[in-house]
Amino acid sequence: MMSKSKGYAALKAKAALAPYAFERREPREHDVVIEIKYCGICHSDIHQTRDEWSEYQEESIFPMVPGHEIAGVVAAVGSKVTKYKVGDKVGVGCFVDSCRTCAECKQGLEQYCTVQTVWTYNSRDQEGTPTYGGYSDKIVVDENYVLRMPDNLPLDACAPLLCAGITLYSPLKHWKTGPGKSVAIVGLGGLGHMGVKLAHALGAEVTVLSQSLRKQADGKRLGANHFYATSDANTFTKLKGSFDLIINTVSAQIDWKEYLNLLKVDGSMVIVGLPEKEIPITAFSLTAGRRSLAGSQIGGIAETQEMLDFCGTRGVACDIEVVPIQKVNEAYERVLRSDVRYRFVIDMATLARD
Ligand code: NAP
Ligand code: ZN
Ligand code: ZN
Repeated sequence: MMSKSKGYAALKAKAALAPYAFERREPREHDVVIEIKYCGICHSDIHQTRDEWSEYQEESIFPMVPGHEIAGVVAAVGSKVTKYKVGDKVGVGCFVDSCRTCAECKQGLEQYCTVQTVWTYNSRDQEGTPTYGGYSDKIVVDENYVLRMPDNLPLDACAPLLCAGITLYSPLKHWKTGPGKSVAIVGLGGLGHMGVKLAHALGAEVTVLSQSLRKQADGKRLGANHFYATSDANTFTKLKGSFDLIINTVSAQIDWKEYLNLLKVDGSMVIVGLPEKEIPITAFSLTAGRRSLAGSQIGGIAETQEMLDFCGTRGVACDIEVVPIQKVNEAYERVLRSDVRYRFVIDMATLARD
């Protein structure tokens, strides 16, 4: 048995998003049916609807309903659901299932499941059925992959925590960010602005490395202690050897050698941005200073809940611009121009206008 759902999809690679009707599974015993209120627009939605990651993925599945920063309210629960009840404010992030038995799943690292992480969209569930994301009216998800949203913060401003928030929180925690640590965030977009807020909340000294000084006042307001333009060559001379940790959120080519030189001895640069092209690195920029270059991908369910609770306690939410779904293609163009302050969030009530 299936139920009707409506949303917006790219019918084929690079197509503009347009209204699309499709089916969701009937809730099983452990499923939660979520009425989606808001969904953030992540740059990954743009990469995937434009099929820019095809070299690194088994397949891209079209029609594609993107969206993995999903915030809503529980509309119904299966007979064996214990964690949620109708009316609860809940969220869904980048994945909706995993094998649950591998060593990674058992440690709460479901995003690195070695058998199969089922992504929220552009993926297949255990039965091989394509998954559809949050640019839609509802979603059906196993309760173990559903998150509880902070009660004291606006739901729309918390939606992007489910990808942008956790993608920065996880490496900040893993690389032990806290008082006395100097952290640089490269790129002040959706991910970057959450990096600044979270690193600041964790007590680190925070520097933003942005293409220009255009967003400087915002950067300081978000919690940055320092703000530099990477278009100014002096930035790289002045900041040489300054950081314990650099998190790179940029999805374009950068001069890797210049950035690695900004690390202290034993410093780490963590990649979270996902450009489609390979990256050139020289061995010398790592051997000099025993530096590390690493990557990180979102976070597991337990850590995502920890991050949401941390944000609730500390009053940290995202800076958002709410848009009707009819403006999604325009919003994509603005993200591509780095003209986003700092995350677009779709108000799903506007789906009814079509
Ligand atoms: P975004 O909102 O577009 O932010 C990216 C920022 O990078 C821009 O705001 C801009 O900041 C900077 N930038 C853009 N073009 C640049 C260029 N040519 N050179 C230097 N800097 C440039 O994107 P997002 O949603 O934060 O996502 C960023 C990347 O992370 C995407 O590739 C996305 O797919 C990936 N991602 C990864 C994960 C993960 O788990 N690893 C999770 C989510 C997203 P300034 O204006 O400050 O320069
Ligand atoms: Zn994302
Ligand atoms: Zn697993």
